[in-house]
Amino acid sequence: MTTRSTILIAGAGIGGLTAALALIRRGMRVHVIEQARELAEIGAGVQISANGAHALFSLGLEPALKQVWCEPAGKEIRLWSTGETWKLFDLGAVSRERYGAPYFMIHRADLHRILLDAVTAAAPDAITLGARVTGFEQDASGVTALCENGTRFQGDALIGADGVHSRIRNALFGEMPAQFTGLMIWRGLVPMERLPERMRRLVGTNWVGPGGHVVHYPVRSGSLMNVGGAIERNDWRVESWTERGTTEEALSDFPGWNEDVHTLIRNIETPYKWALLGREPLDRWTMGRVTLLGDAAHPTLPMMAQGANMALEDSVVLARCLDACDDIPVALQTYEDARRDRTARLVRAANDNATRFHNPALGNAEGAARYVDTEWQEAKVKQRYDWVFEYDPVKVAV
Ligand code: FAD
Repeated sequence: MTTRSTILIAGAGIGGLTAALALIRRGMRVHVIEQARELAEIGAGVQISANGAHALFSLGLEPALKQVWCEPAGKEIRLWSTGETWKLFDLGAVSRERYGAPYFMIHRADLHRILLDAVTAAAPDAITLGARVTGFEQDASGVTALCENGTRFQGDALIGADGVHSRIRNALFGEMPAQFTGLMIWRGLVPMERLPERMRRLVGTNWVGPGGHVVHYPVRSGSLMNVGGAIERNDWRVESWTERGTTEEALSDFPGWNEDVHTLIRNIETPYKWALLGREPLDRWTMGRVTLLGDAAHPTLPMMAQGANMALEDSVVLARCLDACDDIPVALQTYEDARRDRTARLVRAANDNATRFHNPALGNAEGAARYVDTEWQEAKVKQRYDWVFEYDPVKVAV
């Protein structure tokens, strides 16, 4: 067991902090290097399915998560124009019975704070803020993370958990080609009391239409509704979590959509706009003592709601591999081998859902009913999602 290893992690996002906690729990020393000067409350909702919940629960976080999560009874599909509703799948008790853990929705900032509190409680000096990693040097005896401000951090391994625009990935393999999908997403949070009573439901909803779809679900113990509206639009290409737009602009992107969709958009506190870029899965993401994790390793479109879950799975599998093997390059390669095919399959499944959610057949009510009946048949839905939710990163063979 590599109990004395020092593991450097670039990025204190969801993946970086989960990996830090999983490694600390296994007796390793961890140093997390984060570019932000403070870890402020940014972002909106994330969905955690059973596969991600297993990772978080294995780190003892269930009691804290329960205080703020929302566990929906299920998910439904609604038609953009008429609001006609179909079941997508049951969650709640069904997720617990079938996959051994709940499916829950949570504000990213709440999940992030819970992880941060747990890491700092276990290792108070583990995180350095305000340091942007720009590259690394490695040899047979160790690795050094190089920061923009000249600081150097030394360790036995370096994990690039620095998100979709990863500098560590660029240093390993060069710039990753990205193609604009022609889609952008409006994101934001609505205080629940602003919605009419009938819309304050504990379910996840996917509105589907020709050229767009809108997802909404409750977070923060049901006090906020998270809203994400994707639309085909060619003039917005900034891939960012923090670019603001206006309510008027967001509304004008959904002309003719159901009044409930307009009610949601009108009540978003601050609408953010995020261009969706697609990337082919990497063939490899490890080199010697350096590897990648989460969005840095396998950025994905959000159409399977699995970006955060894949980062959580990666973190626990990586910690298990480093725990089981003293040879760092071998341990990191074992981790990559365990994760590459699954994450590539997930990236492709999210691409497929993008076309499924926006199909032109959804344009009129009759075509839509036929399309929904075919595409969201129970057997097909199970085939698309069971392999995702059934995975347990704590138990999977590595
Ligand atoms: P991230 O969670 O993106 O974390 C990457 C971390 O690395 C960040 O803290 C970043 O500041 C840091 N970093 C980047 N470059 C460097 C560098 N060179 N040196 C040091 N540190 C660096 N997903 C949603 O589904 N809904 C949301 O509302 C949402 N909001 C988000 C808000 C923010 C501010 C961020 C950063 C991400 C958000 N995401 C959101 C993305 C989501 O968290 C990720 O897709 C997923 O959790 C995978 O996590 P990750 O750890 O790989 O990446």
